[in-house]
Amino acid sequence: MRTVELAPPVREAVSAVPADLDSMLELLPVPAAVIEIADGRYAFAATNAPFRVAGLGLVASESPVVQLLGPRIGQFLASDLLQEEIAWRFGSEVDSRHFRAVLARRTAQERHCLITLLDQTSELRTEQSLRREMATDSLTGLPNRAGFSDELENRIAPGQATGFGVLVINLDRFSRVNACMGALAGDELLISVARRIKGALRGRDILARIGGDEFGVLMTLEEGPDDAVQVARRVHAALTNPFRLSNFEIRIDCSIGIALGADIEGDPEDLVRNAQLAVRRAKKSGRTEFYHTRAFDLAREQFAIETELRRAIENGRMSLAFQPICDLSTGRITSFEALARWTNEHGIAISPNDFIPVAEESGLIVPLGRWAMEEAARTLAEWDVRAGGNCGVKIAVNLSAIQLQRDQIGAMVKAALDRHAMPGSRFTLELTESAIVSDPDRIAQTMTALKDLGTTLAMDDFGTGYSNLAYLQKLPIDVLKIDRSFVTGMLADRDKIAIIRAILSLASALGMQTTAEGIETPELAQTLAALGCTYGQGYHYSRPVAGDAAFGLIGAAIA
Ligand code: C2E
Ligand code: CA
Ligand code: CA
Repeated sequence: MRTVELAPPVREAVSAVPADLDSMLELLPVPAAVIEIADGRYAFAATNAPFRVAGLGLVASESPVVQLLGPRIGQFLASDLLQEEIAWRFGSEVDSRHFRAVLARRTAQERHCLITLLDQTSELRTEQSLRREMATDSLTGLPNRAGFSDELENRIAPGQATGFGVLVINLDRFSRVNACMGALAGDELLISVARRIKGALRGRDILARIGGDEFGVLMTLEEGPDDAVQVARRVHAALTNPFRLSNFEIRIDCSIGIALGADIEGDPEDLVRNAQLAVRRAKKSGRTEFYHTRAFDLAREQFAIETELRRAIENGRMSLAFQPICDLSTGRITSFEALARWTNEHGIAISPNDFIPVAEESGLIVPLGRWAMEEAARTLAEWDVRAGGNCGVKIAVNLSAIQLQRDQIGAMVKAALDRHAMPGSRFTLELTESAIVSDPDRIAQTMTALKDLGTTLAMDDFGTGYSNLAYLQKLPIDVLKIDRSFVTGMLADRDKIAIIRAILSLASALGMQTTAEGIETPELAQTLAALGCTYGQGYHYSRPVAGDAAFGLIGAAIA
């Protein structure tokens, strides 16, 4: 049998052997094929006739490669391609053979071609075993970090991670074992730990060692996130019994972080990263943690505030602070604004700027507001008793827009007044512009009801909302409270002064009084007094203080 020596790339080889090929074809019966077996490399030549395995031994002609190649040669010759590459794999996953065939000809008219057939089995096997070695942790025989990535990539199609979960299991204080007992003992322990974790998993879960003392589990979630929780529980249980290491009993615990495929959008690798973030949290909290998106964390934080706030209101753990409001011309305290205070179960004072919005969103503002009105009435009644008659000041209570929408404010205020035998004239109710914007007709009714009780009505944070001046005129408002943002820094800001002047003249035109908020210096107090503002409130006079301290301030005048 004549042989053709073909060296890749084939195209060059084709032009290098035209003579040989032609003479070779002449020598062979038509249709013809030549095969040379050397170094796992085969060469064929064929005519345009239906491919038959002429001149080949029985074994070669029955070879599946040759059988498969026949029809492909026909297709190639019928096409106008000059070169085509075909790859085949035969046999099972473990014992497979890999071939690559390159079909080539010099012109599209040529009715025969050269075929170079490469047996790449051993090449690929070497590559595979190398790859396997690189993806395997030599100590435990488990996939390592790279191997884990391969598994993620193989099992999860891009963007199809829903239904998968990753657990990251981090051993607690493992470095101590290495330090106290040596690295060999540490290795031994890791092997045992890996075996126990493996035993806690379901057959289809994939375990990998993704770090020195960190394992990863890729699992499918047939029943939802609870599957992952169950596995985490079993892993913890599997590690409860101590390990025996050369006469020592060692306890090893772990922290577990879980990431769910539903939380990621792109790369399956994000599952590992997210689970690693969760495991860092688990280390701190001491319990299994799920990875959550930032939105979820915020929602949970809000929920925690809400739960605690509800308890605080129910258990009477809220209090009121009182901040004086002074007559700007005399400096005398005419009233106190009641401001809610909350110290949570961990002794941390939470700002009303944080809990009032939560209370409004959750509806807790209704019981909170009722409590504040009740507590203000109770306090003022108590001050009167201590003063042996009318103590001479009013108390201002804040009403949120949500409260006005959801509660029967008129009845609520009246009930509180009645309980403490207080006249409405001793109270100011502070409303915000947003309350008016939301439902002007309803608010008008409520305000009239409050006026009928004799209370003073103040428009809080005036200037920050979208004041509808037409409504302002129609509503029974007594006082405009100029928002702190206009007062702060006004001495150096012509625009702010202009706005304050405008508010003051508007109030005067509508027959309303004014209170400036946020007065922190005597200069501000003097300037606002000179501009004709009626009242002032701010740190210059006093910060909000507890009830007893506030009572002590009554009668004082601050310049
Ligand atoms: P607000 O009604 O405008 O109350 C005035 C806020 O300004 C208070 O903050 C007070 O401490 C602060 N403040 C007073 N003078 C000064 C000053 O000179 N400088 C500065 N930088 N700040 C000053 P606080 O007590 O933190 O209350 C914040 C907000 O929470 C209140 O703003 C009010 O909108 C709301 N809030 C407080 N208690 C209640 C309540 O019982 N019910 C309702 N609905 N809202 C409340
Ligand atoms: Ca207020
Ligand atoms: Ca205000």
